Amino acid sequence: MSELAYPYEAPASQALFDRAAAVTPGGVNSPVRAFRAVGGAPRFMVSGTGPYLTDADGREYVDLVCSWGPMILGHAHPEVVAAVQEAVARGTSFGTPAEGEVALAEAMVERVAPLEQVRLVSSGTEATMSAIRLARGFTQRTKVIKFAGCYHGHVDSLLAAAGSGVATFALPDTPGVTGAQASDTIVLPYNDLEAVHAAFAAHPGEIACVITEASPGNMGVVPPLPGFNQGLKDACAAGGALFVSDEVMTGFRTSRAGWFGVEGVVPDLMTFGKVMGGGFPAAAFGGRADVMAHLAPAGPVYQAGTLSGNPVATAAGLAQLRLLDDAAYAKVNAVSEQIQGLVTEALSKEGVAHTLQNASNMFSVFFTDRPVTDYDGARAQDSFRYTAFFHSLLANGVYLPPSSFESWFVSTAHDERAVQRIADALPAAARAAAEATA
Ligand code: PLP
Repeated sequence: MSELAYPYEAPASQALFDRAAAVTPGGVNSPVRAFRAVGGAPRFMVSGTGPYLTDADGREYVDLVCSWGPMILGHAHPEVVAAVQEAVARGTSFGTPAEGEVALAEAMVERVAPLEQVRLVSSGTEATMSAIRLARGFTQRTKVIKFAGCYHGHVDSLLAAAGSGVATFALPDTPGVTGAQASDTIVLPYNDLEAVHAAFAAHPGEIACVITEASPGNMGVVPPLPGFNQGLKDACAAGGALFVSDEVMTGFRTSRAGWFGVEGVVPDLMTFGKVMGGGFPAAAFGGRADVMAHLAPAGPVYQAGTLSGNPVATAAGLAQLRLLDDAAYAKVNAVSEQIQGLVTEALSKEGVAHTLQNASNMFSVFFTDRPVTDYDGARAQDSFRYTAFFHSLLANGVYLPPSSFESWFVSTAHDERAVQRIADALPAAARAAAEATA
C-alpha cells in the first residue's frame, strides 16, 4: 500500500513525524509506535480523556491500546490526576525513602498472595532484568529458559532467538547482543512442556529460572494451555530453578491479583509494570521473602535506581489501584466481551477467517481460522488483512494497536457511546479485511 492509498490524511501528525525523524531514530521513542507494521504516519496524540484520544489534527479516536495497558481507568481519570497534582506540589523526587512507595508496595502485597516482598523500579525491562539477576544470584546458576514470542522488555539476554534445536543455546535476536549474552538463554516453543523437560534434562544443575509471560500478550493474546504454568512451576521445583512469572502486562489488569488471580499458580518471583504505575514510569519485581532477602542492601545481589519509587509515580499507581475494585474489573471485563462479540460478528458476516483469543479482558484477533498456541501459529496468520482492518478503523475514529502481534486493551471508561462508535466502524473494516490482498 502506498502512502497515498490510505483513506485519510493527517498533515499535522505527518509534519510532527518529519520533525521527529530529524532528531530521533525512526521518529519515535519505542519502535512499535512508528506504524512500520501497518504503514502510514503514526498519529501524534495531544490529549486523552476517558476512552478517547485526540491527535494533532484534532481527530478523536476510541482508544483500544490504552497506552499498551496502563490506562485501565481511561485517560486523565479525575481521581488519579488529583493524586498526581497533590504529589507534584509536594516535590517530584527526593532521592530518599518516602511513604508513598511503602503504601504502593503494601497495596501490591495485599492483592497478590505470592508477593511477600517487592522492590520498585521504573520500567518493566528493569523489573525482568533485575528478577533474572536475582534468580541467578540466588541459585548460583547461569542459564535462563524463555519462550519464543514472549517479550520481557529489551533485556540483552532475553533478546534471544531459538538456536538450532530444542534445549540448545540461543542466538542474539538483534545486533548489539553478544553471543555470550544469548548463550546463557534457552528459547523454547510456548505451551510446550516436553521441550521444557528436555531442556532441564540436557542441562542438569545449570538452569537458574524459567521466565514466562503469565499469559502472553506480545504475540497477540495466546493464553497458556491448561496445566502449562503449573507444569513450569513443577519442572522448576524439581530442577532446583525459580519460576518467574512476568505480569508486567497482566498484573492488576486481568484481575485484582492479575493472572495469578485467574489461574492460581504460585511463582517464586513475579514482575509488574503498566497498571501499577497509573500511566507513570513505575514497575516492580517481588515474590518469596527468602529469595528477595538476597537483594542489596539486605543481601549481596546488587540492584538500584535514582528514580525508583518516585513519589509522583507511586501516587498515580496507588490512586489507580485503590479505584480498581471488583466492580471496576466487572466493568472492564463486560465491555471487553461486548467488543470481542462485535469484532467476531463483523468479521464473520464478511466471511473473514479469524480467531479471536482472550485472557480475561485482554484480547486480540488473528487472521487465521486455527487456534493460536505459540509464536509459529501467530506468525502463520494473514497479517495483510490486519493492515486493511486497522486503517479502516483508524479512518473511522477507532485506534487499534498498529501491529497484529499485540493485545487490545479497554478500560472502565469505555462506555456505550465509545462502544457504539466501534460498532459503527466495524462493518467497513471487516469488508476491507475481506477484500485485502497480500
Ligand atoms: N514484560 C512484558 C510482559 C511486557 O509486555 C513488557 C512491555 O510491554 C515488558 C516486560 C517491558 O516493559 P517496559 O516497556 O516498561 O520496559
